[in-house]
Amino acid sequence: SFLDDLIRSNQDVSSWETIGKSGEGRALKIVKIGYPPATTGQTKPIIWIDAGIHAREWIAPATATYIISILIREKNDEEISKMLKTFDFHILPTANPDGYEYSRLFDRFWRKTRSRNAGTFLGFFCIGVDPNRNYGYQWSRTGSSGNPCSNTYHGPRPFSEPETASIASHVMQNKNNIKLFLSLHSYSQLILTPWGWTRDLPKDHADMMKMAEIASRAFKMRHGTEYRYGSSTSLLCKQTYDILHS
Ligand SMILES: [Zn+2]
Repeated sequence: SFLDDLIRSNQDVSSWETIGKSGEGRALKIVKIGYPPATTGQTKPIIWIDAGIHAREWIAPATATYIISILIREKNDEEISKMLKTFDFHILPTANPDGYEYSRLFDRFWRKTRSRNAGTFLGFFCIGVDPNRNYGYQWSRTGSSGNPCSNTYHGPRPFSEPETASIASHVMQNKNNIKLFLSLHSYSQLILTPWGWTRDLPKDHADMMKMAEIASRAFKMRHGTEYRYGSSTSLLCKQTYDILHS
């Protein structure tokens, strides 16, 4: 594939790691990018980016792939090379490969995983869990559904989906080094920060707003696109929202 070729010819700066398997057995693969390469075991601050946890949001995996290709191809650019020496990027371009494949082949608007919701009456008819409502923190508190037929079904228990369980396990293994956790979704032009389950704000809210402002300004300079930013609850209110309950 495109990424295989790119990584094979740039082993000085990039490598694959499989962090788990999807419900249907597809590998969940992250690309690690940084100097020196991750294989040396040296730890640096980590920037995590995942994409495609919602199957139908195709622009997200495409964006992650683009980010990977720029970081690797432009590794000799002064600013990018500085970033790669400062940080390790861990990028998961396809967080929900089963759902993605299903959205490609059968149902363009498929959003969830493809797990069988055994053991419940509705689960007999309805497949899949919204993996972005399946993370453990404040699981099922708000903005999700207990109905297996709902597009925001949170699953039978926290981390019931191998996709979210694998991400969580990788994050916990690297929790002291991960300094930024970004999850790419569509649509909207929004930069969303925690929390999504309460109107309260985390104690580093001001810092995150400062970062979001810088990012929003950079997006606007590049293509004139306007990105609003704020906590998930403040920007999305009662709409169905797309955030990691982290
Ligand atoms: Zn989404």
